[in-house]
Amino acid sequence: MAKVEQPKVFLALKILSPIFFLVGLTLIILAVTVLADVTRVMDVETRFPEMACLTPGVFILFLSIPCFVMGYAPKINKIAIKTAKYVQQENYDDLTDIATTSAEITKDAVTITAKAIRDGVSDTKYCKHCGALIDRDSKFCSECGKEQ
Ligand SMILES: [Zn+2]
Repeated sequence: MAKVEQPKVFLALKILSPIFFLVGLTLIILAVTVLADVTRVMDVETRFPEMACLTPGVFILFLSIPCFVMGYAPKINKIAIKTAKYVQQENYDDLTDIATTSAEITKDAVTITAKAIRDGVSDTKYCKHCGALIDRDSKFCSECGKEQ
């Protein structure tokens, strides 16, 4: 099978996700260590440098999550496919058994349905006494001779 080139967007997201993560984390750490001053009062104005650092820090950190998930989506899918293949091979006998049973159930259901359709469209009926297939408008059974 030919190797398909990975779209550039995945590469960009792959590169961006750790950058966002590190930048966000650095901003948060900076905000809660260097810029945070517990001796100051809880005030928007005095806490401005800290908040100005913390808010984008949290935002950028959270932004790294979708970037990471999307950037590694092809890899995650590959792992999922490999896992599915492994599970399939590992449970081959059981899965074959399930598939065979399902096929038999389907076959029986289809047979019953087909029979019902055939009976519905044909001008035949079953004898009340012996169960033989006879003409719909016949007064006596052609097999057992009993009246319908
Ligand atoms: Zn009959």
